[in-house]
Amino acid sequence: MDLYEYQAKDLFAAHQVPVLPGEVATTPAEARAAAERIGGQVVVKAQVKTGGRGKAGGVKLAENPAEAEEKAKAILGMDIKGHTVHRVLVTAASDISEEYYFSFLLDRSNRTFLAMASAEGGVEIEQLAVERPEALAKVAIDPIEGVDKAKATEILKQGKFPEAVLDEAAEVVVKLWDTFTAEDASLVEVNPLVRDPQDKVIALDGKVTLDENAGFRHEAHGELVDKQAEDPLEAKAKAKDLNYVKLEGQVGIIGNGAGLVMSTLDVVAYAGEKHSGVKPANFLDIGGGASAEVMAAGLDVILGDQDVRSVFVNVFGGITACDAVANGIVEALKILGDEATKPLVVRLDGNNVEEGRRILAEANHPLVTVVDTMDNAADKAAELAAAGA
Ligand code: GDP
Ligand code: MN
Repeated sequence: MDLYEYQAKDLFAAHQVPVLPGEVATTPAEARAAAERIGGQVVVKAQVKTGGRGKAGGVKLAENPAEAEEKAKAILGMDIKGHTVHRVLVTAASDISEEYYFSFLLDRSNRTFLAMASAEGGVEIEQLAVERPEALAKVAIDPIEGVDKAKATEILKQGKFPEAVLDEAAEVVVKLWDTFTAEDASLVEVNPLVRDPQDKVIALDGKVTLDENAGFRHEAHGELVDKQAEDPLEAKAKAKDLNYVKLEGQVGIIGNGAGLVMSTLDVVAYAGEKHSGVKPANFLDIGGGASAEVMAAGLDVILGDQDVRSVFVNVFGGITACDAVANGIVEALKILGDEATKPLVVRLDGNNVEEGRRILAEANHPLVTVVDTMDNAADKAAELAAAGA
């Protein structure tokens, strides 16, 4: 989960990383009131989950509250790389002597954490990384050893931070490491980390990605979810504890086990090539249980997707045998009643498959087609989706 700048800075503040006071505003009038409370010069900043806001005109300096209102009016509603600005951060303006870059991230390819630092921060960091990679220090972090002040100083020296700010910047870096680990983040980035005329080091921007898999140990992170931007179907699935990801296609997918669902996506995409190019509409793993309730919840979410024209239920009976799954499907269709309107292709295999197929045959539900093999079932589901267009 990516955070907005204002949320990232709230986390920074909670871990004693120096930030400037700020308030979020959703209207120009609110921005004016915020500027009045903050006092003096302020910066009005678009809150969108993408970089390059400065260059796009989404970061503007305001001398007084009236100007803050004016700037907020210009920024709210602006489109930045496909993101509409719904709120701005009004924050105390800082005089900047120098702009640095600092980040901690999960380095998947090297299976470790990585620190990146450069005394040449600001808006062009991507360009710097390409054109003059030697100016961007990359230091692997041992997750057990972590980052103490000595390690932080070593990283900053490699990033060519000036002597005069080394001590203070190293303290900030240790606190950024605290933020990174304590919040279970996979990215903490500060660009720019600035030196002000008094040689104070301040995080002027913040980008944080939290690991949602660690959400269970961070109750407070739930509040950071952007309900407005969340896909309504994904939100519904999450509320029902389903592993669901919405995709762009037309064939709804339900399977048990992440591996089976992944390969189901592949065979459906392949089969779809022969049927007007239909594609999988979602990833949905109902896990081991496959009870009627879980099946009904899964079908309910998938049938709520306007794009779905057919559903492929692909189940391999293991600990939960096929007869239980078949009963689950039959019961789920009873629970859904008239809400089930799209054709279902069911493929069962594995433990007690004969009994499972018998149960479905006996139920003889008009929407259900049972197909023996995964490839043939994928083909049937794609054909039905193409026909339902
Ligand atoms: P980004 O372009 O989306 O990364 O947004 P940033 O928050 O990094 O802001 C872009 C640039 O605006 C920074 O690199 C600064 O040069 C400038 N900026 C941001 N906040 C302030 C501030 O408080 N005072 C001044 N003078 N400049 C600022
Ligand atoms: Mn920035």
